Amino acid sequence: MNRRDMLIQSGAAALTLASFPLGWSARAAEGKRRILMFTKSGWFEHSVVKRNGDKLSLAERIVTDLAGKHNFEVNCTKDGRVFVNEDLAKYDAFLFETQGDPTKEGVDKQPPMPPEGKKALLDAIAGGKGFAGCHCASDTFHSPGDQTKSQTPDSYDPYIAMLGGEFIRHGAQQKAWMRVVDHSFPGAKEIRDFELLEEWYSLKNFSPDLHVILVQDTHGMKGADYQRPNFPATWARMHHRGRVFYTSMGHREDVWQNPTFQELLLGGLAWATGNVEADVSPNIQQAAPQAAVMPALGAKK
Ligand SMILES: [Zn+2]
Repeated sequence: MNRRDMLIQSGAAALTLASFPLGWSARAAEGKRRILMFTKSGWFEHSVVKRNGDKLSLAERIVTDLAGKHNFEVNCTKDGRVFVNEDLAKYDAFLFETQGDPTKEGVDKQPPMPPEGKKALLDAIAGGKGFAGCHCASDTFHSPGDQTKSQTPDSYDPYIAMLGGEFIRHGAQQKAWMRVVDHSFPGAKEIRDFELLEEWYSLKNFSPDLHVILVQDTHGMKGADYQRPNFPATWARMHHRGRVFYTSMGHREDVWQNPTFQELLLGGLAWATGNVEADVSPNIQQAAPQAAVMPALGAKK
């Protein structure tokens, strides 16, 4: 067992599933929370969301298992038409591990999201539905302009403005530290700083109202993408009346299987669906004061 596995196991040991419910069961009288999980991919389909025939992907199976254990419902789809064909009012939150432009057919050949579907999604969130994004959810609906540069807030894609940050690039997979800056957020209560092997996203275009939960500690990270001060990696924010949660983790299969990742995701979903409360007052200035400093990147690789 290497040091990272020991760290993860020692973190996981403190977390029993019984410790979780975090309100899932407390409001059972209101009925099960419903989540729409959407994993349509544009030009790159991650292995964790790849289906084998009719078989759900790894990420979909994990969320479905968590739903069974924690008494919520999840509907998994890659069909972008769901956002116009279904009444979004029946869902409490949307969970995205998407990539690229979901309004295009994309490599997965799934039906695209009609443009009015994107508007329906954003309107639903603004009106009070929750949103949780993992990893490449920030590599979705990019803002126009040079991807290696930051943009001004008035030019952010409306989806990126909702999410609160945008993917720039990633370097080689490596072990890096996540620093927990809010231990009170659901799912983060038992988690200490941890080191993880992952494909780490370098992010930009942060919303100034982010409530940062985990910070990417860039010290010692290898590659041009990470030669920058620490920046937010997992956060929550309010989008009008909607609750938005994002974590940059979720590339590797063993990250999806990692109890710490699952605990954070469950906490994010519990909060996003309105099943548990949290203080999400903006803290980005304290947590990552130099988040806007961009890495010096050459031409797009
Ligand atoms: Zn990835």
